[in-house]
Amino acid sequence: MTGATETADAVIIGGGVMGCSIACNLALTVARHGLRRIVLLERDTLGSGSTGRSSAAIRMHYSTAVNAELAWRSLHIFRNFGDIIGGECGYTRTGYLVFAGPDDLDSFRANIATQQSVGVSTGIISAADAAELAPGFAVADAAAIAYEPYSGHADASGTAYAYATRARAEGVAIRLQTPAAAIETSADGSRVAAVRTAAGARIATGVAVVATGPWTARFLAPHGIDVPLIATRHEVLHFRRPLDLVPYHPGGADISNRIYFRPEGQDLTLVGNGNHSDIVDDPEVFAQRASPAFIQDVWPRLARRIPPIADAELVHGYAGLYTNSPDSHPIMDRIAGVDGLYLCSGFSGHGFKLSPMVGALMAELIGSGQAATMDISPLRLSRFAEGDLNNAGYGFDVLA
Ligand SMILES: Cc1cc2nc3c(=O)[nH]c(=O)nc-3n(C[C@H](O)[C@H](O)[C@H](O)COP(=O)(O)OP(=O)(O)OC[C@H]3O[C@@H](n4cnc5c(N)ncnc54)[C@H](O)[C@@H]3O)c2cc1C
Repeated sequence: MTGATETADAVIIGGGVMGCSIACNLALTVARHGLRRIVLLERDTLGSGSTGRSSAAIRMHYSTAVNAELAWRSLHIFRNFGDIIGGECGYTRTGYLVFAGPDDLDSFRANIATQQSVGVSTGIISAADAAELAPGFAVADAAAIAYEPYSGHADASGTAYAYATRARAEGVAIRLQTPAAAIETSADGSRVAAVRTAAGARIATGVAVVATGPWTARFLAPHGIDVPLIATRHEVLHFRRPLDLVPYHPGGADISNRIYFRPEGQDLTLVGNGNHSDIVDDPEVFAQRASPAFIQDVWPRLARRIPPIADAELVHGYAGLYTNSPDSHPIMDRIAGVDGLYLCSGFSGHGFKLSPMVGALMAELIGSGQAATMDISPLRLSRFAEGDLNNAGYGFDVLA
């Protein structure tokens, strides 16, 4: 290993949408905290982890106020992305339907009330209204249907790149193909001293932010830091739908059929399923393609909600990794006992839509010692040891 070659005020590890958003937000608020020299290290290319496989659905239906508020505030940024950050995030407003079955009705109503309490525009609509919003859909079996008029989807890689582009313009140094190997602490272990790269460079810094997605537990374990995060594999399919029967449709989540879906481009329908998960030990080694078992399982479930999909053409499928926490909520916190060490991970199947506010709040936490815009204490790391977990929703972790 070489000696000190560089110093930085903050080093962000991971160039997914979270790392890029944090770097950009830190750079944009430098006048408040004075952390001028910011370096982002990415082991491969920007968005090459979960971000590049994300379905990038943007919806507000969550089971807790903290997630709903993060999503709602983030939606404002997605809708005004060019003015606030610059560049393109690909926000596409489609509206969003959430279908509940009879068993989920009480939680569904309670969750909608929670979402409304933090300002989310959502409400229960009639089956007739849903049928009008989504031609070709089967709606009669749903016990209740919620509609979010401003939700939709965006481009996850594009969003990460837009944050990175603005970050670079503000002076952030982004190093691709540069894995961080270790965080070095002071002799007594009480504070961050440097980040070492796998190539042997040492960046002296007092602040290290771990935003390494599915790699997080593996990266932190050799430092003696155990975090309850696992990488799980999830598949996504694209169908070419018959446009005469389903000309367009909103995005949606179907709690009874355990699927989420959204339109993609002009004539495709994307479907994913948050509750099938295979644990992956090494985030660099997992099956990238959709499996026949998944196709056989999920296709009929989508066709229950959108019957003409039964005869649609399957165009392709792929898989990506979630980073799951025990309550399907992220961890956004400092690591107790090591000054200057921060953790931002565990977004399960739903982090993309939160990424604008995640970056802003992490920048507040790092720069001022506290996230001021909203209370993120429900996302503290210690909640697992304290047994104070968040409500994980319907057992369908994309809606946690
Ligand atoms: C199939 C799929 C569908 C999804 N659908 C949605 C959705 O519809 N809506 C939604 O909101 N969310 C969705 N998500 C979740 C969302 O994509 C993730 O929560 C989000 O992308 C997480 O971003 P991240 O930056 O934390 O992680 P990542 O994107 O994984 O980024 C982590 C980065 O860290 C890098 N890294 C790791 N170790 C190191 C190291 N030692 N040194 C340097 N760099 C390192 C990796 O290469 C990677 O680029 C989906 C995810 C998947 C996989």
